[in-house]
Amino acid sequence: MSTSTITNPVSAAAAHEISRRRTFAIISHPDAGKTTLTEKLLLYGGAIGLAGSVTSKKEQQSTSSDWMAMEKERGISVSSTVLQFEYNDCCVNLLDTPGHHDFSEDTYRVLSAVDAAVMVIDAGKGIEAQTLKLFDVCRRRGVPIFVFVNKMDRPSRPPLELLDELEKVLKLAPAPVNWPLGDGERFRGVYDREKAEVNLFERTTGGTFKAPLEVAGIEDDKVREALSDDLYETVTQEVELLDGLTEPLEIDRVLAGEQMPIYFGSAMNNFGVQNMLESFLQMAPPPAGRVSDGKMVEPNTDSFSGFVFKIQANMNPRHRDRAVFIRIVSGVFERDMQVVDQRSGKKVRLANAQKLFGQDRETLDTAYAGDILALVGNYNFLIGDTLTSAPKVVYKEMPRFTPECFTYIVNKDTANIKRYRSGMEQLMKEGVAQAYHVHGSLQAVPMLGAVGPLQFEVLQARLIAEYGVETRLEHSPWSVVQWFDEHEPDPLRRDRNAPKVHLPTGSAIARDQDGQWVVLLSSKYMLGVLHDRNDHLTFR
Ligand code: GDP
Repeated sequence: MSTSTITNPVSAAAAHEISRRRTFAIISHPDAGKTTLTEKLLLYGGAIGLAGSVTSKKEQQSTSSDWMAMEKERGISVSSTVLQFEYNDCCVNLLDTPGHHDFSEDTYRVLSAVDAAVMVIDAGKGIEAQTLKLFDVCRRRGVPIFVFVNKMDRPSRPPLELLDELEKVLKLAPAPVNWPLGDGERFRGVYDREKAEVNLFERTTGGTFKAPLEVAGIEDDKVREALSDDLYETVTQEVELLDGLTEPLEIDRVLAGEQMPIYFGSAMNNFGVQNMLESFLQMAPPPAGRVSDGKMVEPNTDSFSGFVFKIQANMNPRHRDRAVFIRIVSGVFERDMQVVDQRSGKKVRLANAQKLFGQDRETLDTAYAGDILALVGNYNFLIGDTLTSAPKVVYKEMPRFTPECFTYIVNKDTANIKRYRSGMEQLMKEGVAQAYHVHGSLQAVPMLGAVGPLQFEVLQARLIAEYGVETRLEHSPWSVVQWFDEHEPDPLRRDRNAPKVHLPTGSAIARDQDGQWVVLLSSKYMLGVLHDRNDHLTFR
């Protein structure tokens, strides 16, 4: 990849604004503590006066991440939100991601818009299934990872064992920035290895306010007093061992995705959160450019460019509108600016960009590379679209995910057909599921694929709530999809010279929503059969 030089840089003031942006997401397996950590981070950012108001169940109304009744019932976060706050001269953009497995497509797309990720791990459990999947997406994208080992106030697995697991499973060098002093009932705080300081943990009721932080040197009598003799011994031994087991933290290696800083703490008790935030902001990278046609477009380039990574209709039942989320890759956004949608070639005026914070909205006049724009209104964009003020920039940032569940969603009442169609069209645009047009199918509607079955339930619930359309699920005989390489000719063999496709029993040919050819199969076993019988073809 060649790197382009910036011929027209932004003004010095804009360059300063861009350089102080830090755009990241928190990822975790459900229940590890992502929401709690988010809430505490916002407390430090001054975005809310009292930690607890983001998630306390009664007040959840005030966050936009639970705009759906269904979500409230299940207590999981379906949508993703963007929160912006100032801290230590950094302008922090925190992208919320749903933790539930079934919404991981949405999460994966959000990860295309960040420059770093904080991975929360439950100290009692270690790496869990969803942590690993999300980590893989980050690694593929080259996103640096910071680890917060949470819930140290509860019985944890031995920290050295956790460290070993992180290293073996994630194959990244762990660099513990601090080290826990005990766990559970006996959790007394953390030892900051870099500063050679001890932060003592004091239990405060409810952990609602900023936790008091007492700092002393490791030799401080207070430390010895705070720890029982055996704990003191264990901890000093562990800390000594660590120096031999781990390599010193190097920012360059963190940014290159070779090393992960690790912090121990307790989000609920607001312990270790501020230290982590400060250390994170020192190391996390400023906005990165993105590649267009083999060339890196740098954030400081004068012309505006960005890509759509999320679309969400009917965010607020009172407004009944649609929000398009755009990661700004380069330049400066000014209210009312005109851009070209590179997919359709159409010029669009970006009139109504808003800052969203829960249900509160504020019109946005200016935003910089690294920021997330939420355009609210009737924009006809699709996920993955590149918007630019200068021609010839196209980002291909949206990964495609292999669905693992398939179904038909059939309209129950033919009188509603128009609403059914427009609802499905909108929800497909939002990427709620993927559509497949099966060759020779007797079904009047396309088959749908999703990473998890809950996506279908969301689809059905939204069709009722937002379009007044009742549907039912119909079984699909397929459970595996295999894409043909894009250079393979039409598998329906309209071209006589094209090599034949030998389809296993029960499989079918279909096109995805972008017109790409696929084979649908009844099982993983049949996928093996497809590959065995078709050595002469290339699959993706
Ligand atoms: P998420 O699903 O990852 O967003 O997890 P939540 O933030 O909702 O936390 C899941 C549960 O763990 C909640 O009941 C939290 O109160 C609890 N929790 C979060 N952090 C801590 C912690 O540091 N210590 C303890 N004991 N519980 C915690």
